[in-house]
Amino acid sequence: MTKKDTAAGYEVVIGLEIHAQMSTATKMFCGCTTLFGGQPNTHTCPVCIGMPGVLPVMNNRALEFTIRAGLATNCQISRYSRFARKNYFYPDLPKGYQISQYELPICIGGSVVITTEDGEKTIGLTRIHMEEDAGKNIHEGNTAAGHSRSHSLVDLNRAGVPLMEIVSEPDIRSPKEAAAFMRKLRGILRYLEVCDGNMEEGSLRCDANVSLRPYGTEALGTKTEIKNINSFRFVEKALEYEIKRQEKVLRAGGTITQETRLWDVATGVTQSMRSKEEAHDYRYFPEPDLVPIAVSDDFIEGIRATMPELPDTLKGRFVEVYNLPKYDADLLTSDRQVALFFEETVRGGANPKAASNWIMGELMRLLNESAGAAAPAIRTAPAIKGSVAIESLQLRPADLVGLLRLIDDGTISVKIAKVVFEDMFNTGKSAQEVVKDRGLVQISDEGHLEQTIEDIIARNPAEAGRYRAGEVKLVGFFVGEVMKATKGKANPKLVNEILRRKLS
Ligand SMILES: [Zn+2]
Repeated sequence: MTKKDTAAGYEVVIGLEIHAQMSTATKMFCGCTTLFGGQPNTHTCPVCIGMPGVLPVMNNRALEFTIRAGLATNCQISRYSRFARKNYFYPDLPKGYQISQYELPICIGGSVVITTEDGEKTIGLTRIHMEEDAGKNIHEGNTAAGHSRSHSLVDLNRAGVPLMEIVSEPDIRSPKEAAAFMRKLRGILRYLEVCDGNMEEGSLRCDANVSLRPYGTEALGTKTEIKNINSFRFVEKALEYEIKRQEKVLRAGGTITQETRLWDVATGVTQSMRSKEEAHDYRYFPEPDLVPIAVSDDFIEGIRATMPELPDTLKGRFVEVYNLPKYDADLLTSDRQVALFFEETVRGGANPKAASNWIMGELMRLLNESAGAAAPAIRTAPAIKGSVAIESLQLRPADLVGLLRLIDDGTISVKIAKVVFEDMFNTGKSAQEVVKDRGLVQISDEGHLEQTIEDIIARNPAEAGRYRAGEVKLVGFFVGEVMKATKGKANPKLVNEILRRKLS
């Protein structure tokens, strides 16, 4: 654990509850579409707007998806589980209760391995259960200083969208670990194709429980819950802030109030929202409108048989088969589409380490940069760091293979290759096309280079003299001049050879 993640003298205890919207076509208990967007209240029916007298019917795909997630995280799958009513009232929950699971969740236990700067660590899971999402309140009206919003509207398109709630054990010890856990889970869910992981649209969000206790003690301190965090960066920032706040209160001899706090993105502080409900405040009871869920071994084995290769397995394979450093393998496998892109590039004939460097470096940089701009690619499911999805790019693995080939055979330098790559990324052209269109072929004609170098030495007699007197690092100056003269197209290896020869 790094020093700055901890409150000196106190141990940080964090547990996360991740809410993942499932990528089913229809809602949890009715046939309405789960599509994001749409005019307010158009994706609704009597079931999801909570009309009296209607009956919910469980979406079997949602059950299957949750079991997939459970199998991928080593949970025990309950052969018998059931839904419960969680009673509370907000305008975005028209029934006055949420259908969730309480005493008998579908998945119990399990664990996830995270990787941080300090190595690997296993985070335990308490449970994974199914529930329905609530609608959205939209606050409108006079927003001038000193006025509160004049009215609120409710959009129920999201009400009833299937959610899985993944609850971790309080095994997380720093904001960095919390972000790593969230990242890892998002990766797994995307591999399984049970959640698109689109955090900007709220498909994946988390609540964080955090408390401090003096080092060496076992008893948990009073916790606060931070609600509705929807990015990896915010989970770290919100927790860092909250840890400092709690530490300050404890140091001053105060006590922490158990409460729910909201992370304010604009001001960077957490603010008290309400005193935290205890489970009994929700008056849970078994949902009488839904039969208990009985799951057979055959059903579970059928799901297991269709499981894809998961990030940890893939990571192991990348290290073993392609001889990649663990760091590379971890980054490449954190998103399935990135991993597929890498493998296809290598299958196309690229050197694995070179392919890895280009994907982790230039490709990720361009993907992240274009995430904010009017992107060349369609924004669907984002790749790493909430950026543009790699699968929606015009650039294909075969194009990267082509670029690496041009570097290998000396047609272009690595420096020029970066320029070519950016062009390929933006236009979808092949490396050969870009090099041809822009006249970027590397100058490897020895006679041509010799002439250029002789001219440069003649123009810089003082530097040449100092080089010959022993100031050999001046070779860098000459290389720079040659590159300037050739617009970066000179073959660097050849330039170095000729320079040393001419200057000696
Ligand atoms: Zn509906």
